[in-house]
Amino acid sequence: MAVCPYCGTGCKLNLLVEGGKVVGAEPLNGVTNEGELCLKGYFGYDFINDTKILTPRLRNPMLRRSRDAAFEAVSWDEAIRYAATKLGEIKAKYGPDSIMTTGSSRGTGNETNYVMQKFTRAVLGTNNVDNCARVCHGPSVAGLQVTLGNGAMSNSIPEIEHTKCVLVFGYNVADSHPVIAKRIIRAKERGAKIIVCDPRKIETARLADLWLPLNNGSNMALVNAFANVLINEGLYNKEYVANHTEGFDEYKKIVEKYTPEYVEAITGLPAADIREAMRIYAAAPSATILWGMGVTQWGQGVDVVKGLSGLALLTGNLGRPNVGVGPVRGQNNVQGSCDMGVLPTEFPGYQKVTDPEIRAKFAKAWGVDSLPAEIGCRLTDVPHLAETGKLKAMYVMGEDPAQTEPDLTQVRKGFEAMEFVIVQDIFMTKTAMFADLILPATSWGEHEGVFSAADRSFQRFTKAVDAKGDVKHDWEIISLLATAMGYPMHYDNTRQIWDELRELCPIFYGATYEKMEGLGAVPWPCRDLDSPGSKYLYEGNVFQRPGGKGLLFATEWRPPQDQLTEEFPLILCTVREVGHYSCRSMTGNCAALQTLADEPGYVTINPKDAKALGIRDQELVWVSSRRGKVITRASVTDRTNKGAVYMTYQWWIGACNELTIHAVDPIAKTPEYKYAAVRVEPIADQ
Ligand code: SF4
Repeated sequence: MAVCPYCGTGCKLNLLVEGGKVVGAEPLNGVTNEGELCLKGYFGYDFINDTKILTPRLRNPMLRRSRDAAFEAVSWDEAIRYAATKLGEIKAKYGPDSIMTTGSSRGTGNETNYVMQKFTRAVLGTNNVDNCARVCHGPSVAGLQVTLGNGAMSNSIPEIEHTKCVLVFGYNVADSHPVIAKRIIRAKERGAKIIVCDPRKIETARLADLWLPLNNGSNMALVNAFANVLINEGLYNKEYVANHTEGFDEYKKIVEKYTPEYVEAITGLPAADIREAMRIYAAAPSATILWGMGVTQWGQGVDVVKGLSGLALLTGNLGRPNVGVGPVRGQNNVQGSCDMGVLPTEFPGYQKVTDPEIRAKFAKAWGVDSLPAEIGCRLTDVPHLAETGKLKAMYVMGEDPAQTEPDLTQVRKGFEAMEFVIVQDIFMTKTAMFADLILPATSWGEHEGVFSAADRSFQRFTKAVDAKGDVKHDWEIISLLATAMGYPMHYDNTRQIWDELRELCPIFYGATYEKMEGLGAVPWPCRDLDSPGSKYLYEGNVFQRPGGKGLLFATEWRPPQDQLTEEFPLILCTVREVGHYSCRSMTGNCAALQTLADEPGYVTINPKDAKALGIRDQELVWVSSRRGKVITRASVTDRTNKGAVYMTYQWWIGACNELTIHAVDPIAKTPEYKYAAVRVEPIADQ
């Protein structure tokens, strides 16, 4: 029994095995997928078999003793000894905060992430541990923790089809979470109204009752205008606001000027449509807001998340079934990485590293005198810290920042400046090319554990085949390294790890392996052994904030940070595509999926812009920004709004992150992937 490794929907499936190879996948009746899979679920399994379509599986530890030398295969003993010595030397010379680690939000599992953050804190002595939520839903966690007290989806995935209004904001659900898109279709079939806010005519916009194609970079202005309509037209739930929220007067004052007419120029939307959207949303007996990277990958992502939660608070759409706020997590276990404390601010179970009592609890359990109190650095801090000599070593597990972070020139300089880089992965990624030591791990399908779906549901997954080659489970590798560094760490299996972390995390305590196996999924909080977990949060409208009330928050709209000029007149926005996943190391090695598109990828452009630039469909073009230049293929489509172009981020040749800007949200430090000023030019003489 497996859980799909590709998105936070958490679809359950069976891997079909013949002669020790995975030969197929069939859907199971999981809580979130109920017998459905998308094409990644059906055809995304054969990377396990080492197809070598894009890159070969890593099969041995590999070391290069100097940056000029070639990688040589070494034994595990030598690899671990070398890593322990180097990390020990760097820690002794520059201090614990000169080292950073990452968890992995792909197919490794919660137990591995728990072990990685434990190693970072108890052995290295730093809170410098982070995961890819930093570049995706970090603003959702930071924003919702402030306004509601909990950074996750408030309600469960199955509830989506029973809501009476779905407000889809900055979220290409059909490409990102196809099985959730089906839930939205079923909600519509049951009579729900669908409102979509997105500059592009995404698939979901085609079935929407109202599509608001707002200007790129105007989210905060639109959300403030939504609040303005709810208040000025008396559409908000006054009793709910009086009893369950705080901050209304200040909130009202800020959104006062954001009338639909005032924001017409910023958003490009007719005032009447903005009003209509909120009349639909407020009139629905139950309403759900779902959002994705179109909300979070901005310099003002945290503010917009807070603003969206304000709409739910104003209308009382929280604390009951079939309503709520849904930051729908992208990678299959990015919710789990955060749950497990792979964050510079929190221990597992969202317990703050700055709380002395919490630190003392973990220190006692882990058998160390003390644990670091300083908040650690973020993934997006790495290039700057490395270049300025503050970060000397990095242990990257199951992430590929040299492909997925913004402004890749800067990222490469950061890796080159570090003294020691370990990459632990299943494939030779772009980041692995900067490694001094490569540690090969088992893949999804070759190990077991627990994933957290986007709706907080813990689900067990098991192994289908034995791993080939000299590879080890991620948590075994980390344990060997910890032991070699003088901190004996040993686990026999993932259950031991899970039971250790349950004991330390009150909100996960009741989620045993047996319960997950019996119920299929256990959504946290699950504090007691006899509780089935919590399908929705904030029951009784009690928010996890001091005083128990939700916070209404608004702030002024800020324009995006990159500047459009005559030289760079178009907006580049990075997006997802349905057939590929993350840095493509997995889906690029799947025979069926890699046929959907190939290098050098593509840039979608509106027909009017294409005509003005003399660009034909499928023609090779240069895309340039102030930071770089890549070759790609033009895809001319009227689904793309005029003035903007869109690229997916997995291509190695047409890598859009050569172009993106390292401008980050001041709180979440999430990059503004959705807005870089670029120029697109045809390549002459093809
Ligand atoms: Fe389900 Fe997502 Fe996997 Fe598709 S990619 S099968 S929607 S978990």
